[in-house]
Amino acid sequence: SLSDRLGGVFDRLRGRGALSEDDVRGAMREVRIALLEADVALPVVRRFVDNVTELAIGQSVLRSVTPGQQVVKIVNDALVEMLGGGTAELDLVATPPVVIMMVGLQGSGKTTSTAKIAKLLKEKHGKKVMMASLDVNRPAAQEQLKVLGEQVGVATLPIIVGQLPVEIATRALNAAKLQAVDVLMLDTAGRLHVDQALMDEMKAVSAISVPKETLLVVDALTGQDAVNVAQSFSGEVDLTGIVLTRMDGDARGGAALSMRAVTGKPIKFAGTGEKLDAIEPFHPERVAGRILGMGDIVSMVEKAAATIQVEDAEKLAARMSKGQFDMNDLRTQLRQMQNMGGLGALAGMMPGMKKAKAAMAQSGMDDRVLLRMDAIIGSMTVKEREKPELLNAKRKIRVAKGSGTQVQDVNKLLKMHQEMAKAMKQIKKMGGLKGLGALFG
Ligand code: GDP
Ligand code: MG
Repeated sequence: SLSDRLGGVFDRLRGRGALSEDDVRGAMREVRIALLEADVALPVVRRFVDNVTELAIGQSVLRSVTPGQQVVKIVNDALVEMLGGGTAELDLVATPPVVIMMVGLQGSGKTTSTAKIAKLLKEKHGKKVMMASLDVNRPAAQEQLKVLGEQVGVATLPIIVGQLPVEIATRALNAAKLQAVDVLMLDTAGRLHVDQALMDEMKAVSAISVPKETLLVVDALTGQDAVNVAQSFSGEVDLTGIVLTRMDGDARGGAALSMRAVTGKPIKFAGTGEKLDAIEPFHPERVAGRILGMGDIVSMVEKAAATIQVEDAEKLAARMSKGQFDMNDLRTQLRQMQNMGGLGALAGMMPGMKKAKAAMAQSGMDDRVLLRMDAIIGSMTVKEREKPELLNAKRKIRVAKGSGTQVQDVNKLLKMHQEMAKAMKQIKKMGGLKGLGALFG
C-alpha cells in the first residue's frame, strides 16, 4: 500500500545520519512511484515531487543534524498542504432554510452521506434539518432516504410519486420555510456515468434552490475515476466541497490526494463506514499521517528527537559522574542545543547547560555560533578531541583554517570547554549525579 511504500522509504531516511542530494533524489523517485501506484494524478505527483525535492535538498536541511527527519517532515507538510491544509467546515451562514445539495454518481454514497450529515447537524450543531430525495430514477431511492431519516430522527419530505426533481425541490423549499427548518438537504439522483442529462437536472435544481453548499460525494475506492468524476462535476456546478466516502476501506489514498489539487475544492467530510455516525470532518494532518504510515508523523519526529537526546544525555551523565568531559561530550551538547531549537530552548536541558547558556548569552552568542563551534570540533583530530590540552598555537591555526573560523573562536571554545569540564569535576567531588541538584537546580 501507499503507507507501506512511503513508510519504508522514510524509515531508511530517518535511520541515517548525513544525507546527500543523491539520497534525497533516490527517495523522491520512490515517493513518485508510490504516489503513482496509489492512483494520484500524474500532474499532481509531478508538482508534489518537484516541490518537495527542492525543499529537501536545501542547504539547511542536508547540513542539519537530523536531515532524514527533516525530509520526512517536509514530505508530511507537503502532503497536508496537498490535502487542503486545515479542516474545512460547512458554511451555513445564510438565511434559513440553508440548502445543502448533494451530487455525485450512483452508488457513491450520496444518500447515506446525506443522512449522516443531517444527523451531525442535528446532534452536534442543534440544527433543525429536513431531507428530500430528488432521485426519481431509482424506484426505491426516495423510500431509502425516508428510512434513514427515521433512523436518525430527521424529517424527510413526504413522497409524491410522479414529481420531477425540480418540482420536488420547490416543494421541499416551501415545506422547509413553513416548518422553520434551518438546513434543507437535497439528495439528488446519480447516474452510473457522468452524462449531460444528469448535469442538466443538477443545474436546474441548483438554480431554483440556490444551495449554500454543493457537496460532491465521491467514492475513495475508485481512485483515478473519482478524480475524473470530480473534474467533470466541478466544470458544471459550483462545488463548495467534497465528501470522500469509503475511507474505511483500503483506499489507496490517491483519490484524497488528487481531489483537492485537481478541483481546488476542500474535502469537508470523510465517510468511514456504513453506519450513520461513520462520518468525520476531514483532517489533512491525520490523513497525511496515515498515508505516511506512521500516525501523527510530526509528533513522532519530535518524540524521536527527544529519545535520541535522552540516550545521549544518559551517556553523558555517566561520563560526567566520573568527572569526564571532553570535546566529544561538548559536541554532543552543542548538537542537542541545535536539536532543541537553539539557545533559546536551552534552559530545561542538561544540568550544566544553564551556566553555559548564561555565559554564552553574556558573550553575545547566537545560534550560528553553535554551528561554528560544531565545525571547530569537527576540524580537530580524534586525539585533540579527547585531550584538548594538546591544542597548541600551531594546531589551533590548523583547526581554525579547517573550520573556516578564527583562532580567537577556537580559543573561546576551549575556554568554554574548560569551564564546563571544571563543573563536571565539581559534580564528581559532590558525589556524582546526586550532587547535581544542589549545583544546578
Ligand atoms: P448513492 O447511490 O450515492 O445514494 O449511494 P448510497 O448512499 O445508497 O450508498 C451505496 C452503498 O455504499 C450503501 O450500501 C452504503 O451503505 C455504502 N456506503 C456509503 N458510504 C460509505 C462509507 O463511507 N463506507 C462504507 N464502507 N460504505 C459506505
Ligand atoms: Mg441515493
